Amino acid sequence: MMKIPIAEPCIGEGELENIIEAVKSGWVSSKGDFIRKFEERFAKYCGRRYGIATSSGTTALHLALAALGIKKKNKVIVPALTFIAVANTVTYCGAKPVFVDSHPDYWCIDPEKIEEKITENTNAIIPVHLYGHPCDMGPILDIAKDHGLYVVEDAAEAHGAEYKNKIVGSFGDISCFSFFGNKIITTGEGGMCLTNNEELAGKMRILRDHGMNPNKRYWFDVIGFNYRMTNLQAAIGLSQLTKINQFIEKKRQIAKLYAEGLNGLEKKGLITLHPEMEWAKCVYWMYSILIEDKFKIERDEVMKKLDERGIETRNFFYPLHILPPYKISDDSLNLAKNISSKGFNLPSSPVLGKNEIKYIVKTLTEMVVR
Ligand SMILES: *Cc1c(COP(=O)(O)O)cnc(C)c1O
Repeated sequence: MMKIPIAEPCIGEGELENIIEAVKSGWVSSKGDFIRKFEERFAKYCGRRYGIATSSGTTALHLALAALGIKKKNKVIVPALTFIAVANTVTYCGAKPVFVDSHPDYWCIDPEKIEEKITENTNAIIPVHLYGHPCDMGPILDIAKDHGLYVVEDAAEAHGAEYKNKIVGSFGDISCFSFFGNKIITTGEGGMCLTNNEELAGKMRILRDHGMNPNKRYWFDVIGFNYRMTNLQAAIGLSQLTKINQFIEKKRQIAKLYAEGLNGLEKKGLITLHPEMEWAKCVYWMYSILIEDKFKIERDEVMKKLDERGIETRNFFYPLHILPPYKISDDSLNLAKNISSKGFNLPSSPVLGKNEIKYIVKTLTEMVVR
């Protein structure tokens, strides 16, 4: 039986043409025109001045924290419910991630629960726009300002999403993106840091390139990294960028079809649909639902049944505070734990057809015990 995949990259002729051009030019490594163009155009798309392309979303986050000077003894506020790379990059700096619970209505970090976790060693906060839904940036920026914290947006799952009509990635000191194969646009592996701050941009460029002094080759003032993106990756990214609004529009159409089809189950309290707050434009990176107790079948069993019928799904991230590297007992993070245990992602690729969505809706609906 054919499987309906959870995600698939949409790579076409444009990407191929750019790749051929890059290969023919000989610039296959991390110098070349595609990198500069991709950085400029993606920064412009997000309304930011500077783009610094990286080898992944993870290296983008680490580069951002390193440029801000996050170091040993520092603490960085992160959501409990997110991908582990967020906490890991804090750990790479020798700093400690401090977890904050989810908002019950839209699953991202709850701004009301941030302040109680701030101590004198806290110096940054990483809001993550989870599964395509923006964080409530207004209060987060206010808290950051009151306490003198840096804000590093993690927009790896939310390219093009908007908070109060302003695109994500345009808030805070630095914003970070991933272009991994299953993200909204891809370069295979890849990422980018965006900022309006010229000094930070310069620092990130230097740290990305082993810490080499830009005016004196092979002179190193600091310990840096090799976090560069290749021209081949950027060649793909540049072509993907021309289609980003198309991909987002398609994801929003898919979300609408799921919501229409599954609305009845939500009304009966059996499931919770992927939210979109009135202040948000969600890009539904992966359309997600929560299986509520009333459904009578547990989340993992529902996923198994869908799998048997050829529908690939993905369970939500485990909250970081229950994973071995970050294990702590903290009752203030129970919402994140609860949402994580009920949630999963449905197939959300832009090439998904109407009939496939109908089939997925029908399969889920038929599962309900009458
Ligand atoms: C994918 C992702 C990352 C890491 O990106 P990579 O390119 O896979 O390293 C970081 N944060 C979040 C929220 C992600 O979803």
